[in-house]
Amino acid sequence: MAAMLHIWCDAQHGAAARGGRPLCEACEELLAYARQRLAHCPFGPAKPTCARCPVHCYGRRQRQAVREVMRCAGPRMLARHPWLAIAHLLDGRRALPPSPRARRAAQAAPRALPPACDAPAAPEQSPRPPAG
Ligand SMILES: [Zn+2]
Repeated sequence: MAAMLHIWCDAQHGAAARGGRPLCEACEELLAYARQRLAHCPFGPAKPTCARCPVHCYGRRQRQAVREVMRCAGPRMLARHPWLAIAHLLDGRRALPPSPRARRAAQAAPRALPPACDAPAAPEQSPRPPAG
């Protein structure tokens, strides 16, 4: 997130707006906001990437801003921080951790059994009987 904001701020706001700091005031504020939200995220370390997070923890204004940052900085991430970008992509494909509500629903619902497998099991390779 911080890396993306740096790219975004660099491209959109320029060094002049930052006055020697790594981020301009607006971006600094957004980063602080993101960190604060993350700290309160109920998923904690298991948090999925924000795009897939079922908890919309960002305010409307911040979400819009973050979306813009991602759209602009996302492709550039690949060039500047390939490992971060790849890790993020992989993270996005990870299954969502069950939310407390979903978990409760799963417990209440009868467990669905997998369909029976009609195909005969592969015959076990029996050792050849000893000759003689
Ligand atoms: Zn900025």
